[in-house]
Amino acid sequence: MKKNLNQNLINLIEYYSLINANLLLSNTPIKRNFTNSDMSFNGTKTEKLKKLKNSMKLIKNCELKKNAKNLVFGDGNINSKIMLIGEGPGANEDAEGKPFVGRAGKLLDKMLAAIHLDRAKVYISNVVNYRPPDNRKPTEEEIEKYLPYLISHIEIINPKIILLLGSTALNALIGNEVVISKARGKWMQKQIASTKPWIIASFHPAFLMRQPDQKKMAWIDLKMIRDKLKSL
Ligand code: URA
Repeated sequence: MKKNLNQNLINLIEYYSLINANLLLSNTPIKRNFTNSDMSFNGTKTEKLKKLKNSMKLIKNCELKKNAKNLVFGDGNINSKIMLIGEGPGANEDAEGKPFVGRAGKLLDKMLAAIHLDRAKVYISNVVNYRPPDNRKPTEEEIEKYLPYLISHIEIINPKIILLLGSTALNALIGNEVVISKARGKWMQKQIASTKPWIIASFHPAFLMRQPDQKKMAWIDLKMIRDKLKSL
């Protein structure tokens, strides 16, 4: 009886470590599969981005859009090797129509500067492009609604590296099963429409403002990005 119990426990542990390893290392995540883009646009990169932006302005029946002042589409260098993806705009971003311009954005600027990057060298967008009311997290339904736009956005920018800032971006692109504390600081390569960027997750700057002791982990992730950029 005791032996059976022990064996069951061992099997269970092996099973969970297998799942965890698969989640973190597999190129085919369990829920999010984006081998095809639902949206495609013709023209130059700039034209495609303009068309994508216009299509977002036409989104219907969306609580986020109804309550927001502005569309927060993206910012930075459209030819950058690296694309950063946050959660969604806050009040400052909504007012200015630009991602990461508030307090979290100031910290993000410092984090980028630590690896000799700045906004002119990276491209930044979010999982949802209209501000969630009262700075709440976007719902799963909202995330799913905006995902085809995000996939198209990634396909157009075609970055070599994607930095997922925080759990919402991680869960939206990799899957709900993964947790940021475990998945951060690990390279994954994943097919996203016609692109196959290297993806890394790290803590969201707003989280780091609340938990400054975690900045040392973010620094490890930033150095991994710095080294990867050099090698690509
Ligand atoms: N937080 C985000 O996730 N995105 C922004 O654009 C600003 C704050």
